Amino acid sequence: MSCIFCKIVAGEIPAEILYQDDDVLCFRDIAAQAPTHLQVIPKKHISSIAELEESDTDLAGKILLTATRMAKEQGISDSGYRVAINCGDQGGQSVSHIHMHVLGGRQMGWPPG
Ligand code: 5GP
Ligand code: ZN
Repeated sequence: MSCIFCKIVAGEIPAEILYQDDDVLCFRDIAAQAPTHLQVIPKKHISSIAELEESDTDLAGKILLTATRMAKEQGISDSGYRVAINCGDQGGQSVSHIHMHVLGGRQMGWPPG
């Protein structure tokens, strides 16, 4: 298995894990771009949001709600935060396993670069 996020799921490489259950995992980004920068991923390997299928409907919703809950737990919900999913080359995706960035603790700019 070559996917770095699958390796984090399997415990083969360390990460600061904040939450996990049977379906999802939340951990801190290794190169934080904001005071709080989390990743929420499905444990199942799906390479990008472009590969989501109808059968992933519940899982996709669960990832989103995990981001909502983690933002509250990490204390960035009231001040506001950004959730981002990069997809493909021009979308700036560098890890080919769906991940939802949750960024907060500073003012975000728009549009993103
Ligand atoms: P992307 O550029 O694909 O949207 O985001 C990939 C993210 O994964 C980046 O923010 C990067 O810092 C993070 N990342 C890459 N490798 C690792 C790792 O081994 N551990 C953790 N915690 N984050 C990683
Ligand atoms: Zn993977």
